[in-house]
Amino acid sequence: VGTLHQRTTARILAIANQKGGVGKTTTTINLATALAAIGQTVLIIDTDPQGNASTGLGISRDNRENNVYGVLMGETPIKSAIYKTDIPQLDLVPSTADLSGAELELVELDRRSHRLYDAISEISDRYDYILIDCPPSLNLLTLNALVAVHAVVVPLQCEFFALEGLSMLMKTIDRVRQTLNPQLEIQGVVLTMFDKRNNLSLQVSQDVRDFLGDKVYRTVIPRNVRVSEAPSHGKPVLIYDHRCAGSQAYIGLAKEVIRRERQLNAAEVA
Ligand code: ADP
Ligand code: MG
Repeated sequence: VGTLHQRTTARILAIANQKGGVGKTTTTINLATALAAIGQTVLIIDTDPQGNASTGLGISRDNRENNVYGVLMGETPIKSAIYKTDIPQLDLVPSTADLSGAELELVELDRRSHRLYDAISEISDRYDYILIDCPPSLNLLTLNALVAVHAVVVPLQCEFFALEGLSMLMKTIDRVRQTLNPQLEIQGVVLTMFDKRNNLSLQVSQDVRDFLGDKVYRTVIPRNVRVSEAPSHGKPVLIYDHRCAGSQAYIGLAKEVIRRERQLNAAEVA
């Protein structure tokens, strides 16, 4: 076992899939909120230039002076880029549109794939969980996330092309494991926007389970209008309407994530 992550105490997870619109940001925000609600201290790092996780948590665009771009460029210590959210125990490092130019700038810097890893090392003893919301591509920002984490949570939308692109993501994860981060693994795959009245949704979820087996969480996130309304109020759905089916599903997912992390930890110690 490598020593890469032994000094950290937080469990660090990337929410990644290079497809856009599959539920990465929604899962990041609501998994984080659910983890906080069951007693964990959580930090979200928004690494998508679109900044949807930051907006969805009520951090307005004109209040992101310190942000992940400055952190990656080495201009801002990560400690000064941590914002409190309205949810106790949930903090956020926001992103800004500057980040879309960061890739080219990162190429010029030392440790260009480890910039996020280095920054997280400074604060990982403050949290139980750190979740990284990834951009919709396999670029240097996503690579920085994959180097910095213990494991990946992959949201998969229950639609016809769900599995398309997944093999590329898995290949990328394998390559990062073989080179930059020997401990990297897929924590699990979460089916999102599931519609039980739709035969295609059922068929896709069955195919994905046949293909990926235990890697797929038992919890399925239903398509739920409350989930899609919540971000425009700057709130996680768990705060916006904690009783709706979407909120309950994210609580279930958080419990499964914790269970799996404990199993992984136990396996590492053994
Ligand atoms: P990504 O971050 O992968 O691009 P998002 O989390 O932003 O995806 O989700 C894409 C769109 O789908 C958003 O408008 C979001 O509100 C909506 N959405 C995500 N999950 C659900 C859900 N369970 N039910 C309804 N709408 C959802
Ligand atoms: Mg997103």
